[in-house]
Amino acid sequence: MMIAENLQKIRATLKPDVRLVAVSKYHPVEALQEAYDTGQRIFGENHVQELVAKEEVLPKDIEWHFIGHLQTNKVKYIARFVSLIHSVDSVKLLKEINKQAEKCGRTIDVLLQIHVAQEETKFGFTPEEVVQMLAEEEWKTCSHVRIVGLMAMATNTDNEVQITDEFETVRQLSDTLKGRFFADEPSFKEISMGMSGDYLIAQEHGSTMVRIGSQIFGERIYTK
Ligand SMILES: *Cc1c(COP(=O)(O)O)cnc(C)c1O
Repeated sequence: MMIAENLQKIRATLKPDVRLVAVSKYHPVEALQEAYDTGQRIFGENHVQELVAKEEVLPKDIEWHFIGHLQTNKVKYIARFVSLIHSVDSVKLLKEINKQAEKCGRTIDVLLQIHVAQEETKFGFTPEEVVQMLAEEEWKTCSHVRIVGLMAMATNTDNEVQITDEFETVRQLSDTLKGRFFADEPSFKEISMGMSGDYLIAQEHGSTMVRIGSQIFGERIYTK
């Protein structure tokens, strides 16, 4: 019952207003069920096919979050049930989510992914790009999408000063965007940041939602 113990330990370290997304990618449904049985209801996945397969067999009151890079042609498979998409990194993707949400008669909550890490490979808008995108106002035509905040990943490093700087950049950007574009929208309040290695830092610097995988489920075995 390591999963239950791990969850208990993590929950004991989380601030009361920080939500826990259990990142279950590559782990079998039995592992998710074990977490579910301890009361965990929010699960994060980053592959569409895997998410769809798990959603089919697991309890219906799970809140599924999509946390990985999302291709526009795959939005249609998850639009029916996804609770939050963390990883919107283009207007094109936003418009496709809007289209598919409308088809399902839903409004889908999303986060804008912000690129603050040093790694070249991380997706997302730079702070300048996100301001420009919001200023252009095309997003406002997407009435079936609700932008509820920002998501970011810090650089994978042991340098806590750098990680802290990156999280603070996101927090300040969130304040700026709130004042400039979302002043009348109290739902714009989420900041998804912090993973197994850095969530304790993240929650001290504005995170409202941490995404934790390996500390709950153990190391992932990549078979794909
Ligand atoms: C895999 C993943 C996580 C969880 O990473 P851990 O280090 O295992 O906690 C969080 N966020 C995203 C976007 C991920 O892809």
